[in-house]
Amino acid sequence: MPTELKYIKGIGPRRADVLAREADIHSPEDVIEYFPYRYVDRSRIYTIRELTADMSYVQLIGRFVSKEVVGQGTKRRLSARFVDGTGSMEVVWFRGLNYVEGQINTSDEYLLFGKPSIFMGRMNMAHPDIERNPDRLQFSGKLMPMYNTTEGMKRAMITSKTMQGIVESVFAAVGTGAIRETLPAQLVARHNLMPRPQALWAIHFPTDLKTLDAARFRLKFEELFYIQLALLRSRNLNRSQVEGIRFTSPGPMLGSFYKDHLKFEPTGAQKRVVHEVWGDFKSGKQMNRLVQGDVGSGKTLVALLCMLIVTGNGMQACLMAPTEILANQHYESLVAELRGMDVGVALLTGSVKGKKRKAILDGLAGGSIGIVVGTHALIGPTVVFKNLALCVIDEQHRFGVAQRASLWTKNSRPPHILVMTATPIPRTLAMTIYGDLDVSVIDEMPPGRKPVFTEHYFYCNRNRLNAFIRSELQKGRQAYVVFPLIKENEKMDYKNLEEGFRYMKESFAEYKVCMVHGKLSADDKDEAMRQFVSGEAQIMVATTVIEVGVNVPNASVMVIESAERFGLSQLHQLRGRVGRGADQSFCILMTANELGRDTRRRIEIMCQTTDGFAIAEADMRLRGPGDIEGTQQSGIPFRLKISDLARDSQILSFARDCAKEVLAQDPMLASPQSVVMTQRLAELQNDTVNWSRIS
Ligand code: ADP
Ligand code: MG
Repeated sequence: MPTELKYIKGIGPRRADVLAREADIHSPEDVIEYFPYRYVDRSRIYTIRELTADMSYVQLIGRFVSKEVVGQGTKRRLSARFVDGTGSMEVVWFRGLNYVEGQINTSDEYLLFGKPSIFMGRMNMAHPDIERNPDRLQFSGKLMPMYNTTEGMKRAMITSKTMQGIVESVFAAVGTGAIRETLPAQLVARHNLMPRPQALWAIHFPTDLKTLDAARFRLKFEELFYIQLALLRSRNLNRSQVEGIRFTSPGPMLGSFYKDHLKFEPTGAQKRVVHEVWGDFKSGKQMNRLVQGDVGSGKTLVALLCMLIVTGNGMQACLMAPTEILANQHYESLVAELRGMDVGVALLTGSVKGKKRKAILDGLAGGSIGIVVGTHALIGPTVVFKNLALCVIDEQHRFGVAQRASLWTKNSRPPHILVMTATPIPRTLAMTIYGDLDVSVIDEMPPGRKPVFTEHYFYCNRNRLNAFIRSELQKGRQAYVVFPLIKENEKMDYKNLEEGFRYMKESFAEYKVCMVHGKLSADDKDEAMRQFVSGEAQIMVATTVIEVGVNVPNASVMVIESAERFGLSQLHQLRGRVGRGADQSFCILMTANELGRDTRRRIEIMCQTTDGFAIAEADMRLRGPGDIEGTQQSGIPFRLKISDLARDSQILSFARDCAKEVLAQDPMLASPQSVVMTQRLAELQNDTVNWSRIS
């Protein structure tokens, strides 16, 4: 495509600057891919009498009978009276008063396009688009595109309407003929997709809904297809080029553990997942597998069984946790589970120092340690393994991609990697973020679990809350009280936490209350955890450091203070800390009285369901996929311009199937027919960091 934006007629250097600065639009392609976020039907003319405040954008035709600038300072506005024969209403502008005033005179007819509202009991319209002496025929049947505009764009008088003109100018300068088809002709023909040049035109200027749908489908398909193609191709590459560590037998340890040390029968889902891992181990390929399982589904046991296959074959395994607390806990439970078995287990975190550290490092290099549990300290350069064959990463979303990547260097042949997610994520998102991993799902809870009963309390119900906590403590149970801690607000949050701690100590003087937060020394944290785990302390006041992994089955109450400040997935994680034993457990969400709409919705969802996948889906609907925890770090290969993972799951599945089909015929995309695709992939990957090789 030719030319810079500033040379295109109808844009010019000033607007080109604003577009670049405000919307990251630098080229004609960027303009063409600046898609409308919705469309307004301008086929019908409304009358003032018909208007109600709940209507969306409408158009009216009539005349202005008066106009005046009124008010002072920020209240200064242009107020005009508009009539159409059925009634009259006030129309106001707060910006660009002089310009608009110059546009309005009482002798002409105007077309108004805007959203009606009620102000002081009367119908009113603010900042409509206006058009003098409209051609009544011009708008019939048209869907008008609406574009996002930032404050900066509006200040520079680039409104949605202006954007429409800019897009038109670009098409006029470039011509649809210059737009290349980016999908293989075969695919376009077989699935009857709209060709790219037409689709790009129609997405901006659809003649009717059917055309719009076809254009949308084509563009969404293309976007998702290329993401899947990139992910699946890199998976092929890993598989064909990387030789994995092969095991020909599960080894003796798995069997003896199963026979003599297992405390409970694994669930069907746990067995299936171990089986899937075993399939990878004996395949000769390097495993990159994701285990998804809701909180409490028993991922740790799965990890342990897999690690025993490795140690039984005389090799080493490591288990990485995101926090020291969690690493400690994993270590202690592993030591307990493996008591009496001939496996060396060690704990390596940042706070293991001096002689102890040296002994562990020696044990790892020499091979006397079979399983090491730790934090990111495990991937430091001083840690050398004799023969690392499996790395389990627990609660993955806390680990950066780069950290995962450095595991590859820990052995001459890259170790198998098993990622266990703490947060269930929607299927579409999993397919996209982890599209290059094989996925196993633990979709069954250990038997006898009762769903956690969840209730919403306002602060004014504090006495009732205390009475309830006391009644549970009297039955011998324990309780968590969690406070939010957000970096931006750290000072206040610590103050709330300390106050909450003091309040609980006073209110529950006959019990022991302990406290855990990130600023404590490792020793103090350990001591507080120990008190709670052993049952010496009955109440733990904490920040979200306990969000992931902590396992105290006797705890039956989870109180979440300022619950409105937590996201859904965090609330779900926190709630997962209780309900781990056979007893009925409770989660109480404490909030202020005044709640926003989204917050109320989040609280409702929490009270309605304990299904992590349903919650994840709801979370994605409320916040959009970009904000779901883990997505930023994992790095979706390209930015999504038109697809919405919350809504387009069917197109995504279809696109993935098509990508698979293409790769089945041409795994490396090496044939001449695939040039279209390799070229497009290269273009798309240019803008983004390429994470796809790692994981
Ligand atoms: P998560 O998947 O959240 O990491 P954990 O591995 O911590 O879950 O397991 C949660 C609890 O369930 C632990 O107390 C664990 O001992 C118990 N558990 C795991 N598997 C089973 C099973 N098959 N039967 C009974 N209890 C189990
Ligand atoms: Mg866990």
